[in-house]
Order: sequence, then C-alpha cells, then structure tokens
Amino acid sequence: MTRLRLILGDQLNPQHSWLKHPDPDVIYTLMEIRQETDYVLHHAQKILAIFAAMRDFAGQLTAMGHRVHYLHIGDSNNLQSLTANLDQLIAYFQADQFEYQLPDEWRLDQQLQDYCLTLTIQYRACDSEHFFSSRRQAAEFFGSRSRWLMESFYRQMRIQHQILMENQKPVGGRWNFDSENRKPWSGSPSISRDQRKSHDHSLIWQAIVDAGVNSLGDPQAEDFRWPLNRTEALQQLEHFIVNDLQHFGDYQDAMSRQSWRLFHSLLSFALNCKMLNPREVVLHAEAAWRDGRVPLAAAEGFIRQILGWREYVRGIYWANMPTYTEHNHFGHTRPLPKWFWDAETKMNCLAASIDQTLQTAYAHHIQRLMIIGNFALLSGLDPKSVHHWYLGVYIDAFEWVELPNTLGMSQYADGGLLATKPYVSSAAYIDRMSDYCKGCHYQKKLRTGERACPFNALYWQFFIHHKPLLAQNHRLSMVFRQLERFSDTERVAIHDQAQFYLNHLDTL
Ligand SMILES: Cc1cc2nc3c(=O)[nH]c(=O)nc-3n(C[C@H](O)[C@H](O)[C@H](O)COP(=O)(O)OP(=O)(O)OC[C@H]3O[C@@H](n4cnc5c(N)ncnc54)[C@H](O)[C@@H]3O)c2cc1C
Ligand code: SF4
Repeated sequence: MTRLRLILGDQLNPQHSWLKHPDPDVIYTLMEIRQETDYVLHHAQKILAIFAAMRDFAGQLTAMGHRVHYLHIGDSNNLQSLTANLDQLIAYFQADQFEYQLPDEWRLDQQLQDYCLTLTIQYRACDSEHFFSSRRQAAEFFGSRSRWLMESFYRQMRIQHQILMENQKPVGGRWNFDSENRKPWSGSPSISRDQRKSHDHSLIWQAIVDAGVNSLGDPQAEDFRWPLNRTEALQQLEHFIVNDLQHFGDYQDAMSRQSWRLFHSLLSFALNCKMLNPREVVLHAEAAWRDGRVPLAAAEGFIRQILGWREYVRGIYWANMPTYTEHNHFGHTRPLPKWFWDAETKMNCLAASIDQTLQTAYAHHIQRLMIIGNFALLSGLDPKSVHHWYLGVYIDAFEWVELPNTLGMSQYADGGLLATKPYVSSAAYIDRMSDYCKGCHYQKKLRTGERACPFNALYWQFFIHHKPLLAQNHRLSMVFRQLERFSDTERVAIHDQAQFYLNHLDTL
C-alpha cells in the first residue's frame, strides 16, 4: 500500500497530525510550479519566501524520517502543473491512495476536487488543522442576515474559545477597546530593532530567474528576512510579544515615514503558511496581558485581528466564492495608474506606501486600507484589477484573506456585506494619522487649485457621484449633511478638479 500525500506551499505546519510518525508507505510531495508562480504577477519576495520555506520544510520532514519527493522549479521532470505532476507521481510510485489537506483557496480546492474525480485510486481530503473555525462557520452563524458584522462573530468566537473571558463575561467589562487605539505616532515610543534572521537566498532566486518566472519588486535575495520555518516564526512571535505588543493597540492606525512597520507583528506570512497556529499566537498575547506585561487594550486589539478579522474574512470568502470576485457595486472600471508599479507619484502618502510595498512586499493594514485602497476607491479603479495587484504584491497574500479585505473591506465592491460604509477619507484623516503630508507636493488643506490634495476633491466627488447608492446609509448621514451645505459653485469646482485628476491619474 503506497500513499501519496500532497503538501501545498502554504501548508508548512510541522505539527500537523499527518507528521506524528514516519511511515515508509507514505510519500510526501511538495512542488514549486509555474501554475502557482504565474496565476497573477507576484512580488519577487513572495515567490522566494514560499519556495525557501518549502525547501526548508522538506528538509525538516526528511530529518524527521519521512519520505519526501520534492520538485524544484527547474527540474526537468517538473510538468509545472499540480495535476500533471500528481498524475506522474502516482504512476511513478504506483500509489494506491492519494491524500491532500484542504486548500484555503477556492481555485486549488476546485482543481483538486475535479482531479480526484478522475482518479481510479482512493483519495481523501484532510483538515489542515489550522483555523479556529470551519469554512462554513461564519455562514452558519450569520444565516440570512444582510450585513455580516465582524463584531458579532468575534464575540461568538471569544465565547466559544474562552479567550479574554471570565465568568462568561469579557474581561475588563468590554468586548472592544478600538476607540482607544487611534493614536498617531511622532517618533516615541521607539520602535524595536528588526531582529528577524537574515538569509542569503541568491541561489533559489537564480533558479526562479532561470525558470523564466516574471515578478515585480525587489527580491532582496541576499538579505532576506521573512521566516523560513516555525523556529524562526516563534522567535519573531516572542520578539513581538516582549517588545511591540504593548504599543500595538495605541498605534495600530498610525503611519510614518520614519518606520515602515511601527508596532505591527509581521506575522501574517508565518500564520498564512501555517508555520504558526493562530491559537498559539492568541494564547501568547492573552498570557502577556494576564501576566501584567501588556495593557488589556493592546492584547484585545491584537487578538481581535486574529480571532476576529482573520477567521471572519475566511468565512466571508467561503460563503461567497466563486462569484465574489465579480462584484463591482459602483461599476468602477479605471485601470491602475502606472505608478502602482514603480511608486513614481508626487503624492507622498502613496509614494511612501507603494515604494515600501515594492521594497519589502509588506505594508501594514492602514497603509493598505486608508492610503492605497482609499485612493483606488476614490478614483474608481476596477476592483478586480485592484484585487490582482494586492494578491501579487504582498508577502501574506493568499486569496482567502486578500480578496475579502480588498474587494469587500477596501473597495466596498460587495455593496457593504463586509464593511458598514466605504473606507474613504480626505487628506485630513491622512494628515492626522501620519507624517506623509509634511513636504508633499500637494497641499493637504486645499480642495481646488493646481496644488490641491487629490484626496480632497476626489472624496467629495465620490459622494456626489454615488449619492444614489449611499445616501440611505445612516453611518454616512453626517457626510451627506456636509455635502448639502456646498453651494452649486463649490460643487462645480469640486467636480472639475476631480475630473481633471481622474483624467491625469498617471501623472499625479
Ligand atoms: C486591502 C487589504 C488587503 C489585505 N490583504 C491581506 C492579505 O493578502 N493577507 C493577509 O494576511 N492580510 C491581509 N490584509 C489584512 C492586514 O492588512 C494584514 O493581515 C496585516 O497588515 C499583516 O501584517 P502584520 O502581520 O504585521 O499584522 P498585524 O497588524 O500585526 O496584525 C496581526 C495579525 O492579525 C491578522 N489580521 C490583521 N488584520 C486582518 C484582516 N483585516 N484580515 C485578516 N487578518 C488580519 C493577520 O494575521 C496579522 O498577522 C489586508 C488588508 C487590506 C485592507
Ligand atoms: S497632501 Fe494629500 S497626497 Fe500629499 S501626503 Fe497628504 S494626503 Fe497624501
């Protein structure tokens, strides 16, 4: 009896029950394939990080005594497609059983389901043993409700898993400390040093280049700092809990040119590749609060991102695929301006956020949401193109988590299933939460004129233009009341200014 087990590049969990005992009849396969590098244009570091971690994982499995068949991107017998390689391996090893862990992406899930129907041997899909909730849990929880409020799901998860709970009540008497988490950062408290281990991945990078894989961004192959394995990811988690978690809540929404990550954990890559389990991360943060090492608002703010948002967006994804990608509530169709690919724009906030993205394959949440996503929505960019860009550029981008965040939360393309109102702002918010406006070519306070900040006219024009779709939303009543106060002349000026910018997006 020979069993072939597939491990995908985002299933690098050495604690999975599959791996408890080596079995000479079981062969594990991992594949570096063009199917996965090419489905969207990827950041060089994302491809490199996944391949490097897969190679390391294969080494760990071998050292644990497992049989491993690894296909490198440049191997001559690599057919570069998941199913073609599986056919070849099943025949080569004369396997009579095939098993895989449930993929997180609909695309792969569907491909493997279809593939299994063609098999004449036994097959089985196993749990990846990673998430707190099942794929369908959010859908079952919300049922036919038209709005799926994250907060309700989060509370349910807190109760179900007894996180930050005492006597069936939330500790501190409140579920949510978000209102305390809105401070800008002006250089103090100081940011801890990036202590992630550096790797030289130039050989792997050369193999990727030799295979002809297209990519964008800086590979930084000789000084590469994304974690290779669980050991490094655990060190990173520990460093975050000891040094940064205490400030996480306060400065969660802050942005600064002085620091590209502020107090964010940089754990999403390790979590999404399953080097770390979300439960252990949440329990670490809870323990830090219980031991008096961090304030409750900081621990709760961080835990909400993982136990709340991460599980919730996964539920949205599985409840709405495969049609979720087609939503376009506002009918936006503009292509991405060319500076999305080179950061060459005079708008300081976008230049900083996109340049950082191209350099590091990382931007923190508020840069993704309130700078890049904000601009994309205000300027009517095609949500599917925006989705493809985010899916390609970020180190942690896997469709199950990227798509609901981009299409739903950031672009409101699902018409408000996920977000209670569009996340848009004028320059005032960006100036309050960042230091980007200082020294910008554009003037943050001006709505019209040659140097007027594009966010201002685009913001008001967005609400004027989409009034029929948004005016009933009571969370926007203040915006529409303000809009009422504009004279006709002001409205015409806003329209003309916004239209000028929309016609010249490439040169802003
Ligand atoms: C437009 C847009 C696209 C995004 N695309 C992705 C993506 O492709 N992959 C991804 O993992 N996250 C995505 N996010 C969510 C969030 O921005 C990232 O998880 C976070 O920036 C990762 O950095 P960090 O590990 O330093 O996070 P921290 O700020 O330290 O947060 C801790 C952890 O909480 C989780 N988390 C936080 N916010 C969210 C969220 N909204 N949804 C799901 N999990 C969350 C992540 O696992 C993260 O590692 C996106 C957000 C937006 C607005
Ligand atoms: S002035 Fe406008 S474009 Fe410039 S950094 Fe501020 S918000 Fe961005």
